[in-house]
Amino acid sequence: MGTDKERSASGLKRITLGLSVGLNGTPTPDASLIKRPIVRHSRACARSAEMRAVPHMAIAGVSAFGTVAVLKHQYPAARLPDPAFAGIVAALASGLPDLLEPATSPHHRQFCHSAAFAALVIAGMKKLYEWQPKTPGDALLRDVLLSIGFGYLAHLGADATTAMGLPLLGKLA
Ligand SMILES: [Zn+2]
Repeated sequence: MGTDKERSASGLKRITLGLSVGLNGTPTPDASLIKRPIVRHSRACARSAEMRAVPHMAIAGVSAFGTVAVLKHQYPAARLPDPAFAGIVAALASGLPDLLEPATSPHHRQFCHSAAFAALVIAGMKKLYEWQPKTPGDALLRDVLLSIGFGYLAHLGADATTAMGLPLLGKLA
């Protein structure tokens, strides 16, 4: 891929919260001091929906890196992607289950979040693992897809530890 667009910095919007400076010596700034935490709290709540992706990325990245590193250590002949590569791709792909089934309701977890789907992903990864790519492009594709698989499974694994858990089969749409 040719040119990277590294000009996003120019579009960076900076949100500055009003800083209350100049309180020295003034004993009555009570109103502003009480208001501030409340404002911050509501901002955090409004953002919580989009923040869900962040823990998923961290969990997927770390677990894919760790899993691949351990597997490569125990089975040096294993044809697996570089652990760092797997970790990065898994982190990027970790939002996939929630793209397929957006977390718009507490009951959004259906087929794409099910144990059955996890089994399909594992079966697909097994096929990929057995595949012997002939070209560097195919080898890269194999590494990327295997890493996406690790990321997907890490997402389901993380969701499975929550109170709601995962369905065995779920519904299709
Ligand atoms: Zn999910």
